[in-house]
Amino acid sequence: MRVVLLGAPGSGKGTHGRRLADALGVPLIATGDILRQAIVDGTPLGKKAEADVKAGRLVPDGTMLGLIEERLTAPDAAKGFVLDGFPRTVAQAEGLARILGTAKLDRVVDLVVPFEMIEARLKDRWLCGRCGAIYNVVSARPKQAGVCDRCGGALKQRADDQADTVRKRIEVYHRDTEPLVEYYERAGLLRDVDAATDAERVYVGIARAVGLAA
Ligand code: AMP
Repeated sequence: MRVVLLGAPGSGKGTHGRRLADALGVPLIATGDILRQAIVDGTPLGKKAEADVKAGRLVPDGTMLGLIEERLTAPDAAKGFVLDGFPRTVAQAEGLARILGTAKLDRVVDLVVPFEMIEARLKDRWLCGRCGAIYNVVSARPKQAGVCDRCGGALKQRADDQADTVRKRIEVYHRDTEPLVEYYERAGLLRDVDAATDAERVYVGIARAVGLAA
């Protein structure tokens, strides 16, 4: 099954995407994670993307389409995928359709949260530097402060979760990414899920939206 998760920063794409991908037995492809790793590793992609990621701007479509085309042709993506953070512009969505060809998307799930909630959620977000698991120090605390429950890695905050950069990312979301809601609605692929409620209920909504019994 081929699924895209849409939603503003902090809407829960990473947390629920992981669980959904495991349930579907397909890889989670999170372009933000790929870029952050490339930056840490100092690869040519990382060097190209670093300034944009740090400032909360979008990395150019051409760079992102090259990255996603390479990732989607890897053997593990042949049986499907969950995309988190891609596409983020209509041009990326059109490019994705070209890359997929006859292998069409099955569902696009939009995680809907009121914008007032986003800043508060991101301020309290911590993630594992080793496996990428996501925590919230208020609502989804790790068992031991600063340590990942899953792999024991150290937890850290994302540099782009600072208030100023978050505001920039929300502005970019409104301008560049929100038009995708209409784009996928017209294609008959979109399902909305209320992502402002508790995590378990959100996941049940997502599972239903893709036709899984949660
Ligand atoms: P995320 O982890 O999805 O919030 O992404 C973090 C940052 O990576 C974004 O603020 C962008 O700078 C960059 N990024 C991730 N995915 C994309 C994309 N599809 N297009 C452009 N930039 C992206």
